[in-house]
Amino acid sequence: MFELDDTQRAFESVARAWCEGTLAPAVPALEAGEVLPYDLLRALGRDLGIADLLAAVGERRLAQLAGAAGAGQSGARGGDDGSEAGLGGDPLLTSILLKEICRVSPGFGMVLLATLGCAMTIVARGSADMIERYALPLLRFETIGAWALTEPGAGSDAFGGMRTTAVVEGETLVLNGEKTFISNSPYADVVTVYARVRAGAAAARVRPVLVERGTAGFAATPPMRKMGMHDSPTGAIFLSDCRVPLRHLLGTLEPAAAGAARGGAALETLTLERAVMPAMCLGIIERCVEASIRHAKTRQQFGRPLAEFQAIAFKLARMELALENARNLVFKLAWAQRRRALDARLASLAKLYCAEQAVLAALDAIQIHGGAGYMADLPLEKLMRDAKMFEIGGGTNEMQLQAIARAVLA
Ligand SMILES: Cc1cc2nc3c(=O)[nH]c(=O)nc-3n(C[C@H](O)[C@H](O)[C@H](O)COP(=O)(O)OP(=O)(O)OC[C@H]3O[C@@H](n4cnc5c(N)ncnc54)[C@H](O)[C@@H]3O)c2cc1C
Repeated sequence: MFELDDTQRAFESVARAWCEGTLAPAVPALEAGEVLPYDLLRALGRDLGIADLLAAVGERRLAQLAGAAGAGQSGARGGDDGSEAGLGGDPLLTSILLKEICRVSPGFGMVLLATLGCAMTIVARGSADMIERYALPLLRFETIGAWALTEPGAGSDAFGGMRTTAVVEGETLVLNGEKTFISNSPYADVVTVYARVRAGAAAARVRPVLVERGTAGFAATPPMRKMGMHDSPTGAIFLSDCRVPLRHLLGTLEPAAAGAARGGAALETLTLERAVMPAMCLGIIERCVEASIRHAKTRQQFGRPLAEFQAIAFKLARMELALENARNLVFKLAWAQRRRALDARLASLAKLYCAEQAVLAALDAIQIHGGAGYMADLPLEKLMRDAKMFEIGGGTNEMQLQAIARAVLA
């Protein structure tokens, strides 16, 4: 369980070669905003065969829906949606890909994650027609997706504070509201927008609604300026009497099953996001540990390598401990996903630990490299700026603690 098999190791090595050979040289231009990351995303899909592997996830879901229809069941939502299976049916391959990308550019990892978050919401909740029309092109990176839950007044309390509404008028949904800090939104072709959906006098329910760029009443801001993840465009979305066909409602308006967690589709996607972010953080930790060991062994001060100073050696020992723990958590998450036993406790626990350790590892790596670590010529200062996002996005550290506490106290 704690070692990669031959296929996984081979995949890791081709992913590393791509990230070091193709992604890394592009990072300065991406960070400067001189080029957008989407051509590179398409190259990733093509060069590593990722697009075909991802499309296969959508096609598996289509086959399930066809089977359910043949058996006279409703396949509109829930059940075995294939979303937990991962690339090539192996969740560890998804983790390896994200880890390798984030060794070089966590921001680019976010670009991929946002598109997948959008696509997998459609795969899990959409009809066969919606999957064919929207999810498959997203999974092949022919189009770009965004996943919009956060609002100016609703971040950690995304469900309680949500103001965005979608009112059913015949065969149309009319959306009004505002979303913010949405990855990919400045350029996304398709956005899954969470809204309080109201039909007649029935109580409103929070559901994802698919909105296409170019729909009247939909506006996206240019990218926001931010601390890190400069290669991942982030923006706000405004919806003003934005009308979309009723079939763009992902899932149904039926009440959630008894005992189902508050948050439904959003929580499913958040749990999946929390389950893959640890692998992204692992990439940061791994790169920082490797670079720090190398530097400590070669950089001499006071006539000795830095590694011979206990203060530095102990820092490296703690970084190695974090690396081992983070790697084990990523393996455990993949094991849980394979057994369909992924729960909010494990996902939150892993995300919290790995995010905290990624920030610490990046800060320690900079310290060990001294002034050179602070300079943009080395990747460490970018890794530190990008790492901080993982303590906020996908739910803050405090929200992960709350989820873990809720689970253990239930
Ligand atoms: C780069 C980036 C990309 C993002 N991409 C997306 C995206 O694609 N889609 C999307 O929907 N969102 C996205 N987000 C938004 C992100 O999920 C939110 O920023 C996050 O959930 C926190 O919400 P908030 O910013 O409103 O902070 P707030 O909820 O205002 O929290 C502020 C502080 O208060 C703390 N706090 C809040 N409530 C409690 C409590 N009950 N107990 C203790 N402490 C509490 C928080 O932990 C935090 O430290 C992104 C954010 C960033 C930075």
